[in-house]
Amino acid sequence: MSAPDKTVAFIGLGVMGYPMALNLRKGLDSAHTLLICDVSTDALTRFQHDAESQGPVEIVKSGYEAIQRADAVITMLPDSNAVKKVYLDSTSGILAGAESSLKYDDGKPADKLIMECGTIETSTILEVAKVTSESAASSHLTFVDAPVSGGPMGAQDGTLAFMAGMNNKNAYSRVKGYLSHMGKPDAIFLCGDIGAGTAFKVINNYLSSITSLAASEALNIGTKMGLDVALLTDVINVSGGQCWVTSKSNPVPGIQANVPSSRDYEGGFRIELCRKVLGMGSELAEMVGARTVLDKPTLQAFDEAMGDERYKGKDARVVYKWLNDSEKK
Ligand code: NAD
Repeated sequence: MSAPDKTVAFIGLGVMGYPMALNLRKGLDSAHTLLICDVSTDALTRFQHDAESQGPVEIVKSGYEAIQRADAVITMLPDSNAVKKVYLDSTSGILAGAESSLKYDDGKPADKLIMECGTIETSTILEVAKVTSESAASSHLTFVDAPVSGGPMGAQDGTLAFMAGMNNKNAYSRVKGYLSHMGKPDAIFLCGDIGAGTAFKVINNYLSSITSLAASEALNIGTKMGLDVALLTDVINVSGGQCWVTSKSNPVPGIQANVPSSRDYEGGFRIELCRKVLGMGSELAEMVGARTVLDKPTLQAFDEAMGDERYKGKDARVVYKWLNDSEKK
């Protein structure tokens, strides 16, 4: 069995986690063992096959087992329920495993990293942080929230951006070392204390989801008026209305090549995920007492669009098509 300082665990081999864990395995040297864990046995079997030539990979059953065997556990989980289960479960969870492993450390426990990279509600991240700080193993555990941007393509190419939040800043170089195997080293940011990574991610998405709708509305006015929308886009992009949506992922089909709107809104950031993170931004605003105006009508617009079979599951910029197809009320 490999030594804990030469062992890293990855839990959650889904759309994002699977390619991230493959890149991590490729980046670690062959003296390291990668432990993998997922509720899907199919994902585990496929991974072992795909990573065969990259170095040792072993399956573990739970967060409990992962933290006992590894000094770093990275998780990429879908939602708060999965995070609570994997971290806080009293028999199979990471924190229970960390406390139990203290028994075997003959007075010199190793400093262990536990890191969630999904986009998880701030209240859940703070709950895990609180339980971690109250745990008997707290002085040897660093909990990090390190959500990503870049989507499935960034995960496959190993070019994700990471936004990390952690209280023990001394452990950042270790964190960055692991994240560098999965993302661009110049796009890995230490954002502040625990929860700050998630807040940066959510605030960025809050803005980009609202600008997706705002840019779609503006460009749709031009379309309905019969204007040259390609020229309108060029003018906006050198003027005050310019934003990432108008310049990098224009919602009007045919204006830009290789963007989701030009391939029937396929292969982008799904409207359902965009809505989820905007909702998290709304909750965050409420939690800190920040007044907002634009989130509610934008959420309502997304709900209406994704409730329609024509737009469901598409890139979020499909709100342009939804507006364009709509009759004025
Ligand atoms: P996914 O549903 O494809 O993957 C989640 C994986 O976790 C699955 O393999 C599932 O079996 C596993 N899992 C669930 N509960 C588990 C448990 N208790 N123990 C072990 N494994 C468990 O989700 P995804 O698209 O990979 O997203 C993961 C996270 O990344 C989410 O928080 C999401 O918001 C965030 N994210 C997704 C994207 C995207 O475009 N998909 C982009 C950025 C961030």
